[in-house]
Amino acid sequence: MIYIFGVFFFWLMGEPLVEAKKQLSSAAKVLGIGGKLLSALSEPVRVLSDDIPVKLENGSVQDFNAYRVQHNDALGPFKGGIRFHPEVNLDEVKALAMWMTWKCALMNLPFGGAKGGVIVEPKKLSGRELEALSRGYVQSFGEFLGPDKDVPAPDVYTNAQVMSWMLDEFEKLKKRHSPGAFTGKPLELGGIRIRDESTGLGGFFVIEACARRFGFKPRSTSVAIQGFGNVGFNIAGFLHEAGFKVVALSDSSGAVYSKAGFSPADMMKCKTAKGKIAECYATGSGSGTAISNEELLELDVDVLIPAALSGQITSKNANDVKARLVVEMANGPLTNDADRILGEKKAVVVPDILANAGGVTGSYFEWVQNNYGYYWSYTESFERLKELMSSAVERVFSASSEKKTNLRDAAYMLAVSRVARAVELRGSL
Ligand code: GLU
Repeated sequence: MIYIFGVFFFWLMGEPLVEAKKQLSSAAKVLGIGGKLLSALSEPVRVLSDDIPVKLENGSVQDFNAYRVQHNDALGPFKGGIRFHPEVNLDEVKALAMWMTWKCALMNLPFGGAKGGVIVEPKKLSGRELEALSRGYVQSFGEFLGPDKDVPAPDVYTNAQVMSWMLDEFEKLKKRHSPGAFTGKPLELGGIRIRDESTGLGGFFVIEACARRFGFKPRSTSVAIQGFGNVGFNIAGFLHEAGFKVVALSDSSGAVYSKAGFSPADMMKCKTAKGKIAECYATGSGSGTAISNEELLELDVDVLIPAALSGQITSKNANDVKARLVVEMANGPLTNDADRILGEKKAVVVPDILANAGGVTGSYFEWVQNNYGYYWSYTESFERLKELMSSAVERVFSASSEKKTNLRDAAYMLAVSRVARAVELRGSL
């Protein structure tokens, strides 16, 4: 059974949601947005919740709590990933959905924002159980999804295979092909050539642009990356190739540090063989050490890239962060207090809605290609991503110097004003 909560349904505010709402209200204050318009921007349009029953290998049936939050669709169909994670909670999904709205708006994409989540430890499920869960998600929410309604994509612990099962289930329900209903698909099912790397590549273009502005030379620039999933691994690879020194990497089991730097490809081979990055400190130069995830955040590096989960840098550890440039490749890795503390220390923070927007921009390319049934080459996608990311960076830097704000406030002003204008034009208030 699906429960659809109305717009003003109460909720308990979890941490990321509190942070997301604070960011919106400070942008709204500067933009002079209040009253009904501000309420419309603060609340999700629709909150879907269901229990998905999955028959386990041992014959028993387990229910998994699943959500889809559709935050705002004034600019186009809702857009956003689905995460499978044991710590998913409704408030976090609401915050993530709101961040998607601003991310798509900042990138000038014709999409609104949404997010999905299932409370599950996916590593504990067999392939068949994972497939049943993915199909179950579409059986629960399929009615509200589609290329011109709401287009999901991968997020934490979901991937192209999960999208394939979901697409197949959706097309069975609708009895027609509909490749643009999901993005992040494999190439064979209408995916794009730069899919795996689009988020990391987008972040790399952002860092390159910042390095040029701040006069960082790759060879003398050290980088620490928290998280070695799709995003962390790919951005590490692009930075390494461009000559940056990737001196620290981590996964949920721990972190490693080497002054000489690591080769991300060798580290991935080692992690795949040993299961944990913490056991790979001797890969490459052989002189690395194992450190904790907390220590990684506090290393004396030039660039710090949190690419794991939200709420990693808070008022508790922000004072110990030494990086001059912090690039939010995860969604919401810094709290607002941490952001303020880093600003006081004159560190530059590139906000998530800009830094990791390469992922949804890649999704946009996929959706466009699915809609007109014509597929671009790798180079074409690469060049277009570079162009869109570079112009977004330009817009944010100019707004920041014009309004004398940090990059996050500048990005929020651009994004929130675009959505607010679309809501007003629709005249639905
Ligand atoms: N999960 C990614 C994000 O948080 C991509 C979302 C999408 O492509 O819709 O931006």
